[in-house]
Amino acid sequence: MPQVFWVTCPFCGTKFTAEKVIWDRDDPLLCPQCLEHFKRADSPAIETVWPVTFQDLRTFSRRAD
Ligand SMILES: [Zn+2]
Repeated sequence: MPQVFWVTCPFCGTKFTAEKVIWDRDDPLLCPQCLEHFKRADSPAIETVWPVTFQDLRTFSRRAD
């Protein structure tokens, strides 16, 4: 079973899942609802099923400024 994370689209607010490989590579995410691309750091809400690293948390807090 692949590891996935929940991400929220910053454009339309749709919540959907993406595979962890996208997280690891910091690839752009594609919203299935509005078809907009965005980086995971631009998502207003992310939920992982694995422990996030300090580096990941720093990325989130930087975007919250
Ligand atoms: Zn969207």
